[in-house]
Formats: sequence, structure tokens, C-alpha cells
Amino acid sequence: MRAVRTTETLARVRNLGILAHVDAGKTTTTERILYATGTTYKRGEVHDGTTVTDFDPQERDRGITIFSAAVSCVWDDHRLNLIDTPGHVDFSVEVERSLRVLDGAVAVFDGVAGVEPQSESVWRQADRYGVPRIAFVNKLDRAGADLDAAVESIRTRLSAVPLVVQLPIGREDGFTGVVDLVAMRSLTWEDELKRGPIPDQLREEADARRRRLEEAVAELHPLALEEFPNLSEATLTAALRDLTRTGAGLVVLCGSAYRNRGIEPLLDAVVAYLPSPLDVPAVRGTWQGHDEERPADPEAPFAGLVFKVSATPTGRLTYVRVYAGTLAKGGHVLDAATGRTERISRILRVQADRHTEVPRAGAGDIVALVGPKAAATGATLCAPNAPLLLEPPTSPEPVVSMA
Ligand code: GDP
Repeated sequence: MRAVRTTETLARVRNLGILAHVDAGKTTTTERILYATGTTYKRGEVHDGTTVTDFDPQERDRGITIFSAAVSCVWDDHRLNLIDTPGHVDFSVEVERSLRVLDGAVAVFDGVAGVEPQSESVWRQADRYGVPRIAFVNKLDRAGADLDAAVESIRTRLSAVPLVVQLPIGREDGFTGVVDLVAMRSLTWEDELKRGPIPDQLREEADARRRRLEEAVAELHPLALEEFPNLSEATLTAALRDLTRTGAGLVVLCGSAYRNRGIEPLLDAVVAYLPSPLDVPAVRGTWQGHDEERPADPEAPFAGLVFKVSATPTGRLTYVRVYAGTLAKGGHVLDAATGRTERISRILRVQADRHTEVPRAGAGDIVALVGPKAAATGATLCAPNAPLLLEPPTSPEPVVSMA
């Protein structure tokens, strides 16, 4: 089979989730991301029930995101597959399953409340799965919002090492945007045109915070220490990327999703710091007592994990994270747990409330399949001639209705 994804294009994929305490602003942030990436043309609002990720009527009614939805969008020549993870604590099994298929995550915190009990439990689950994270302190426009206090709660309650890469411009109702501490010394006039110049009254504070960021990074990263002081933007970015991927440091950004502030810098940070499918360890599975690794290689035998099944007007959709190999429309896969062979009649990329049909899905992709009739959440789908189990078989779960 012809490989459609070279390693070069795989490097430009980010499979990420948005993790948050309920009410921290996950839905609004997702919505703004879809808007910024041109995936939706109309901005949805949580309060009028028009956001596109919450497309289950029950979810709209309750105003919480219960069911995971995988949404694909494009930013700066990168494909971002957003796997929506439920923030409600009752659904932690579902959170864990979503975490399994992510390569990285954005943890959203409330800029007033800081770290809340639920943020802690989701954080620990993400730790367990070794999911690299960046943090977004949201709602900086709210009365009582305080970035430094939120950062302190991240340090003490999550035992993380926060590395704050932005300085908010204005406070509470006067919050208007962010200064990028990483790029501040190398802003081109185009950057300034796009994001605005650093306000004069904040230059001194921005310089001081940049120095503190450099010190913190130099303490954690040998490359940064070598160049310290006066790190170049390239070195600082590379060091922050490494620290994110090992979890030794936590990049902290901030903004207001509601006011659409800080969303584009957040997307830049996703691309710059979170790993691609090539940067994470090869998936591990077993077959008949033997352990096996399958690399994120489109030429390897196919292996994918079903992380959600839903009934929609399009039919039964089986959401799959492809780890290895390439799946083509019309092909067959084996459900390794049941021994059943399933035919793939269509492969869909899900863009918010729309589906686009694609002829193939390769390693690193997140797609929805039409055709499989019985594959349940947690099932491994694999090449019939190269069986592999990624998860031990579990009892089948009910199909979630999203009609
Ligand atoms: P989720 O439960 O984490 O998905 O949070 P939502 O996105 O549904 O947001 C919860 C509430 O906070 C809604 O009423 C939002 O309009 C509001 N909200 C979200 N982001 C912001 C923000 O940046 N500023 C303010 N003031 N309100 C926000």
C-alpha cells in the first residue's frame, strides 16, 4: 500500500486534549480554537447552546461536556486533532480513555479559582498516562483574576514547575491581551502588526519576567544554561519544548477565552511545545503472550485503538486513534479481542459538526470509521495478518447516541 504520510507530515500533527475542571472554560476555549482555525464560521456561546463541540442535546441542556468529541483543525500548517475530554469527575473512565489516545494536552485553569480539586484529579490521571502538558490560565478578564496566584497554586498543588511565558496586559475588566516573553526580543514588525507592540509601561516588567524565565529554564536545561544569560528565542523555544515533553517544566500561558484573548498564542504554543506522534514512544501491545511495539510508521502493520463509539445520523461512528500503518477505505481490519473482521466502508475526518470523507488514515491520525458494526470502545483494530492487542479486552459499553 502506498504510504500517504511521510514522517515529515507526521511531524506536523498534534493529537491533543483540553483538560479542565468543569466551568474553567474548556468548551469556550475549544470553540475559540475552532473559530481561530477557521473550522467554524460562527462563534458559538455556551450560554445559548450553540457551541459545536457540545452537540449532544443532553449536553447542551446540562451545559457540561459529557461525551468526548474529536475535532480536527489546521493551524500554521499543522493538523490539530482535538480530543475533547470530559471534565466531569463522574466520567473519569472516559477521561482516562481519552488520555490514552492523546500525545499532549492543554490544561485550562480558572484565573480566579486557580487549581481546583477536579483539576487535581484530572492532572494526576494525565500524569499516570505521561501526557505532556501546557497550561492555559483562563478568565483573566474576571474580577479577582490573578495570574501569579493561579501559577502559585499550580506550583504547590500540582507539584509542577511553572514556566510563565507571557505577561498579561491589563487586569480584570481592563485585560486586553498578552506580551510574549519568549519572542519579545525578536518581534518583527509583522508580529507587532498582528499582535500589537509591547506597551511602553510594561517593558520593564516584561524584561524582568523574561530574565526570570531564562533563569528558571537555565536551571532545568543544560543547553539553556550554556547560553545563559541572554538566551536566543530559538534556544528558549527548544528548551521549553524538551521540558514540556519530559514534564520537567510546565509552560504557562494565559488569556480570556470568552474575550478571545490569548487563543492564537495558545495555538502557537501547541505547535511549538506539544509533541507530534513521532515524538512519543511507539505504542506497545501484546499478542499471545508476546510484547510488541509498533512505531508511528505508515508502512508498519496497521494498529489502532477505538476510543469512542457513537450513533449519529451518519450511522455508527467508530472513533479510532491510528498508531501504526495505513487504513484504506474498503479495507478490512481485525478486532483483536473478538476475532471479528470488520469492513471499513468510509473514513471520516470530523470537523466540529461536519464530516469530511478521506480515502485513507495513516499512523498518527484520529478518524471516525463507518462500517465496523461491533467494535466497542477500548477495542484494538489491527491488520488481519498482524494481530495485536493494545488494551486488555473489557466488557462492551453501550453505544452513545448523538442523533
Ligand atoms: P467548561 O465547563 O470548562 O467547558 O466551561 P465553559 O466553556 O462552559 O465555561 C463556563 C462558563 O464560564 C461559561 O458561562 C462561559 O461563558 C464562562 N467563561 C469561559 N471562559 C471565560 C473567560 O475567559 N472569561 C469569563 N469572564 N468567562 C468565561
